Amino acid sequence: MSEYANAVSIIGGKRFNEGTRIDVIDPFTENIIGETHESGSNTVDLAVTSAGTAFREWSRTSVSDRADILERAADLLEQRSEEVASIVTREMGMPIALSTVTQAQLPASVLRAAAATARRFPWTEDIAGAQLQRRASGIVGAITPWNMPVHQIVAKVSAALAAGCSVVLKPSETTPFDAVKIVEIFIDAGLPPGAFNLVQGTGQITGAALAGHPDLAHVSFTGSVGAGRTVAGLAARTLTRATLELGGKSPALILADADMEKAVAGAWNSGLVNSGQACNATSRMLIPHDRAHEIESMISELAEKVVLGDPTDPSTTHGPLASKRQLDRVVDYAQSALAEGGRLVSGTAKPDSGLRTGHFMAPTVFADLAPTARAVCEEIFGPVIVLQTYRTLDEAMNLANDSEYGLSAEVWSGNPQTAAEVASKLHVGQVKINGVRTRERPAVPFGGVKNSGYGRELGTLGLSEFTDVTAVMA
Ligand code: NAD
Repeated sequence: MSEYANAVSIIGGKRFNEGTRIDVIDPFTENIIGETHESGSNTVDLAVTSAGTAFREWSRTSVSDRADILERAADLLEQRSEEVASIVTREMGMPIALSTVTQAQLPASVLRAAAATARRFPWTEDIAGAQLQRRASGIVGAITPWNMPVHQIVAKVSAALAAGCSVVLKPSETTPFDAVKIVEIFIDAGLPPGAFNLVQGTGQITGAALAGHPDLAHVSFTGSVGAGRTVAGLAARTLTRATLELGGKSPALILADADMEKAVAGAWNSGLVNSGQACNATSRMLIPHDRAHEIESMISELAEKVVLGDPTDPSTTHGPLASKRQLDRVVDYAQSALAEGGRLVSGTAKPDSGLRTGHFMAPTVFADLAPTARAVCEEIFGPVIVLQTYRTLDEAMNLANDSEYGLSAEVWSGNPQTAAEVASKLHVGQVKINGVRTRERPAVPFGGVKNSGYGRELGTLGLSEFTDVTAVMA
């Protein structure tokens, strides 16, 4: 327990741990591995004050000094990658191979990409008879979820700091330990401590105190639609700008001319990555009606290769869900799919009780659900994929767009032109063709439309979110 024992808050480099204790539970062993605490509104005030003081100096540093610090943080994150990845694996059950790639290597490349973006960003630009001057917008409140915790922190903080903003972060209470490590890395990389402050606790108390704080210039939120609405409402009271990275119900469109083996395996992997706990998981697989039988057989074969188990074991392909609450929620969705006429192609729609402990559920795939079924329309955030069949390309695109969400989509096709045409008709924030992975493109803007939120992270657009523009005319 010692290495995880206490997830502190860090304000101006000083550690705090006052406030009601909150247990942190390893979702594989179901043991308490440590605790965090509820910072509450007074500590949020202290953190915002610290960020405000630091902002005066930090916002005046040169772009190249800021970029250097981000690059040093990337180096340190790589050096400490084993420790950071294993913390995430213990906190929320992500298989160690995946947490190494997505929670250490990817954030390091996001930091380097943010540094490069800042170096070539148009800080001043002559347009239409004015010089546009862009500058850091102020104090940023960052609120992040548990599912890809380090990546989500780094996506926000790298851009905010690159812009010259200072930050107060509230990570998920489910995954508080990795955030402590990330703040330490930035301070060790030479960041003035007050430029990156950490508070801990629940969304309802500490998160709400941060989102509604009148001194923020920007609230950058990643999480569920419901909490996103609340956060946007709190920010709106003081006309604070918000970026909302919310959920998804992303389709993988598998076209009839695709390399079927590759497409089905690719869509299966992107639907079930991190046991389906990914905002851009392709939780709907859209398949040609006359190939459904063949595709279902491929899915059954893929299901046989799944290894549920100890997430610290490199041979585990799928870890437990992050909490008992999350498992209960996902099983409830799977049961509702059965009740609405869904046919199981793989899985049992129940918790997997084959292991001694852990919040496991085997990958579960449904066919034959109506487009209006709950499991087709709502984000489940677990290892559940629904198959939807189509007869024409138009029907496929209509099904893909028939969603309250619009975060991401995949298109699988043997014809690059067809794939590009389909992509241009999808109302989503990102389209990935034939298995491109977001983790390989750390400067491509990420974010959604409709209920998936607004604003973008990463790349030039992600950096712009944290700047204000003054048009100077002479
Ligand atoms: P959540 O909305 O419950 O919590 C996210 C964060 O917001 C946590 O830090 C939480 O403490 C805080 N929070 C909750 N209520 C709040 C409130 N009223 N005021 C202020 N803060 C509040 O989400 P979760 O269960 O941690 O994460 C899963 C959700 O996140 C899914 O819906 C998933 O799709 C979404 N997500 C989106 C993206 C994206 O980039 N689009 C990425 C990852 C996860």
